[in-house]
Amino acid sequence: MTNDLFLAIYCPHCHWEPDGGAHWQCTCGCVWNTFATAAVCPRCQRRWRDTDCPPRPGGCGATSPHLDWYHGLDEAVAELMETALAVPANVCCS
Ligand SMILES: [Zn+2]
Ligand SMILES: [Zn+2]
Repeated sequence: MTNDLFLAIYCPHCHWEPDGGAHWQCTCGCVWNTFATAAVCPRCQRRWRDTDCPPRPGGCGATSPHLDWYHGLDEAVAELMETALAVPANVCCS
């Protein structure tokens, strides 16, 4: 599968790039790669507005809005988010 979006993903603070690993944990206990789902938990469908930079694989530990991790064409980011919004959100956690 090819990805034709010109998009870079890295921490806006330390420029750590997600390595494809499952470094994020949802409140439901699910551990996954948040950049594979645009910050939506694959188990409970919760959408995370903020994303931590995981210290263990080399990140800085800072929390940033998920969108701030994406660097590239605004259009590409918008398209990505549109795709993410197509994911059925059947839960509204509070
Ligand atoms: Zn979850
Ligand atoms: Zn960082």
